[in-house]
Amino acid sequence: MANISKQLHDRAIRHIPGGVNSPVRAFRAVGGSPFFVNRAKGCRIWDVDGNERIDYVGTWGPAILGHAPESIITAVKQTAELGTSFGIPNPLEVEMAELICDNVQSVDMVRMCNSGTEATMSAIRVARGFTGRDKIIKFEGCYHGHVDSLLVKAGSGALTFGNPDSGGVPQSFTDHTIVVPFNRPEAIDAAFEANPDQIAGIILEPVPANAGLYLPSEGFLEHLREITAKHQSLLIFDEVMTGFRLGFGGAQERFGITPDLSCFGKIIGGGLPVGAFGGKKEVMECLAPLGSVYQAGTLSGNPIAMAAGITALRELKEHSLYDLLEQRGQFLEDGLRAAAKRANQEVQFHRIGSMFCTYFTSQSVSNLEDAMSSDREKFSKFFHGMLSNGVYLAPSQFEAGFISTAHTEEDLQKTIDAASNVFASL
Ligand code: PMP
Repeated sequence: MANISKQLHDRAIRHIPGGVNSPVRAFRAVGGSPFFVNRAKGCRIWDVDGNERIDYVGTWGPAILGHAPESIITAVKQTAELGTSFGIPNPLEVEMAELICDNVQSVDMVRMCNSGTEATMSAIRVARGFTGRDKIIKFEGCYHGHVDSLLVKAGSGALTFGNPDSGGVPQSFTDHTIVVPFNRPEAIDAAFEANPDQIAGIILEPVPANAGLYLPSEGFLEHLREITAKHQSLLIFDEVMTGFRLGFGGAQERFGITPDLSCFGKIIGGGLPVGAFGGKKEVMECLAPLGSVYQAGTLSGNPIAMAAGITALRELKEHSLYDLLEQRGQFLEDGLRAAAKRANQEVQFHRIGSMFCTYFTSQSVSNLEDAMSSDREKFSKFFHGMLSNGVYLAPSQFEAGFISTAHTEEDLQKTIDAASNVFASL
């Protein structure tokens, strides 16, 4: 590792646990220690030692227009001049709410918060308040932020109450969380059967992208919609990653499913801290000050975050950028598949729109268990190989890659060429 990053890392680990403010940034899964970045523009990042790389992390999803687009920089500067936070309603909050509600068909009302975690935490509270029920179904391998009751992984199958996946979460906090495998409709049926009139809702990433990336099987989302409607439970789409990424209306538009509640984050903040959750009017009216479900935030609806997010959303909407992202995604997919084939590497390359993932396994992947079959040692070698060829992928097998509108075909071709070298060396 070059010098300045190393020095910073040595300083960081003294005062920041693990040297990072979010665990996934550490290189634990792939070995080595993270580099420090002090500049990013377009699809490129520069570390403190001057190394330039093509970035497919995109600050974990928000940078769909690339890093630091001029329009967002200008909006942030102009808005900051007028005040950085008021704690009093401001016009930009109304503009943001209208943008979301006018474009996401299932959302009549929306509340802004400051992270994806807050969005999912609040959405399940609303679901519980609205239905008067306690239990929530979640899926193995889906991540919804670090909400106590959702930090539950697989374990003992469909009908078993999960165990906390994290230290510091009392067992009783997860007693109402039912964990089932993704893409297994029979597991959902069994959960409803075993818990009659007790399930407040199902929360899911409609396209799970926190265990790599796999797609919902044909009819799976429809099944979830039907069974929740039948049991008067709520269907909660966590679109923190997919919202405004898989299309302006998110995964719900792409798959034609109308959830009762949706969670957002990432892109809608234009690179600033943000989250939001919204849904049907009668459900959202449960929230304080109208209803009994309490939810609040000192910085919620922050004008700078609103200005950045509104600018990002406008740009995405006005320039039909999703067609471009689809083309670029296809270009990368074709190139990477061909490169893997030439090198006789058995990979499962998954892509939807501008999100992608490479699993090193011969088995098809449609849930967490399948994803676990990927050869993670090989992934680590692939990751480090790509890094030394000037391409930054997420430092874990179980993360998706993101293409931005700033990735040109030339950048993608460089990535494919790098992958050709690296695949051949594995
Ligand atoms: N939901 C999903 C689907 C996510 O991918 C994430 C973060 N990657 C979150 C929720 C949590 O968002 P945040 O990190 O902003 O709390």
